[in-house]
Amino acid sequence: MEEKLRQAAEWVRQADGLLLCAGAGMGVDSGLPDFRSKGGLWRTTLPFLGGGMNAFFRKSNPSWFKDKPAEAWEFYGGRLQAYRHVQPHEGFNILRKWSQRCPMGSFIYTSNVDEHFQKAGFSPSRIVECHGALMDLQCTYNCHTGIWRWDGVIPERVGRRWFQSTTQREAGWPRCPQCKQIARPNVLLFGDFDWIDHKAKEQHRRFAQWLSSMQGKRLVIIESGAGTAIPTVRMKSEQYYTPQQPNLIRINPTESMGPFGTLSLHQGALSTIKHIDALL
Ligand SMILES: [Zn+2]
Repeated sequence: MEEKLRQAAEWVRQADGLLLCAGAGMGVDSGLPDFRSKGGLWRTTLPFLGGGMNAFFRKSNPSWFKDKPAEAWEFYGGRLQAYRHVQPHEGFNILRKWSQRCPMGSFIYTSNVDEHFQKAGFSPSRIVECHGALMDLQCTYNCHTGIWRWDGVIPERVGRRWFQSTTQREAGWPRCPQCKQIARPNVLLFGDFDWIDHKAKEQHRRFAQWLSSMQGKRLVIIESGAGTAIPTVRMKSEQYYTPQQPNLIRINPTESMGPFGTLSLHQGALSTIKHIDALL
């Protein structure tokens, strides 16, 4: 392991630019739940929504906001509050410091909807949020194609008791400025044909631009906490992996395997990043 960490430090030192790929596991060290591990969202929050392990698949689609807005907003509102209050862990700062050492800087590709890279000081113009962001809202009925920021608070309940009356609760849900119907996060849900992708498209355009400026230069990919169940982020890392000159560092405590030459670091994100930093 020590040898692999030393190797990772060497790659970071030689990099002209870093592609930082992140999945839910990246947030675990900040105190946020991921999806599938023991303390993950699937096993903690979802049972309260009456569904067990498949509830997320069944419910996390756009019609959830149309059919059961209270339930949908309870789930997403809770996550929104958590993301706002939790500070990104030190690993984000270390990655930012590494990015600053590289002549071409870094680009982030994340499936996380928590905006923690922005919160940690990364430039919003160097981020692709492939699943959107929870603080961005859109109309559930797609009556107009805008995305807007929302900083309101969702009514909370403890156990099975609401603190507010139904009317008060409904008044607290964000609504579309145009049709006044219930709004939803601009987060990519399952089977989501209503997702407004203007922002994501613009992010991808900047990403492509950065990648073309990286041609002929040493690109090193550091992937943290991206699982195989929804492999969007892993596929992205592997897309830019070059077998001739291995450049993929995959940090994952349970699924660190990758294509031949991958530097698989079988540990959590924060401890691994700190360890590499100490060797730099
Ligand atoms: Zn609307």
